[in-house]
This record gives sequence, C-alpha cells and structure tokens, in this order.
Amino acid sequence: MNIALIAHDKKKQQMINFTQKYKNILVKHKLCATGTTGRLINEETGLDIRRFLSGPLGGDQQIGSKIACDEIDLVIFLRDPLTAQPHEPDILALIRLCDVHSIPVATNITTAEILLESLHKEENPNWRGIKDKY
Ligand code: PGA
Repeated sequence: MNIALIAHDKKKQQMINFTQKYKNILVKHKLCATGTTGRLINEETGLDIRRFLSGPLGGDQQIGSKIACDEIDLVIFLRDPLTAQPHEPDILALIRLCDVHSIPVATNITTAEILLESLHKEENPNWRGIKDKY
C-alpha cells in the first residue's frame, strides 16, 4: 500500500511516537510525507520515506495530486485544529480529495491507530473494493 503521512507542528511528536510504535507494519509499505514530517520520521525511525515539499510550501497539494491520480491508499494526517495554519485551503483540499476518491484518512491519533491495527491483521486489505459495494 502507498501511505501518506502528514503532521502539523504540534502533532509532530505524536507522529514520531506513532511511527515508532508501528514501524514493523509501516516498513512493509511505500511511505511518503510532507517535508518536515518526513524528515523527522526518517531521523527518528530510519524508515525509508519519500519526502515532498513542506506543507506550507505546497506539500499537501503534492500529496493531493497523488490522491487524485489514484496513487495513495491511506492518509494519516495528524491535524492541529487549535492552531491557525497558513495553508488551511490546501489542507481542506487534501481531505476533500480523500472523500472524493474514498481514500481512508485518519485526522487524529485514535483513527490512525485503528487503521494501522487493521493493517496489522491484514497486510493488503481490499479497502478499495469497499466503495464498489455502495
Ligand atoms: P510539514 O508539513 O511536514 O512540512 O511540516 C505539514 C503541514 O503543515 O501540512
């Protein structure tokens, strides 16, 4: 699976803790991230991760474009809803694209855990087939 990881500044430590905890699962998948999030994950876990631009410089849009091209299967986006983000329109656009394409997106740590636990049970779940049933 292709997994995109993004964390706002106040959620970056949470993302590091999360990727450390699930390193053994994440290592089996293709990872990409916005710039700073990707660098921190790589430094702290050693996971191989493709880095796009930093979020405020267009990283969210780059990941959004991959979602639109059907190249992302899962998005973990640890958002900070309490701090104004300069690139809020890009963030909303990315989440919108997940909904347009029925791509699972976790915007908080609890949903992120539930999705990764699900990957733990089944390495390649047929999530894409779910929308076809509706
Ligand atoms: P960053 O971007 O990983 O480069 O900090 C994340 C974001 O703010 O969208």
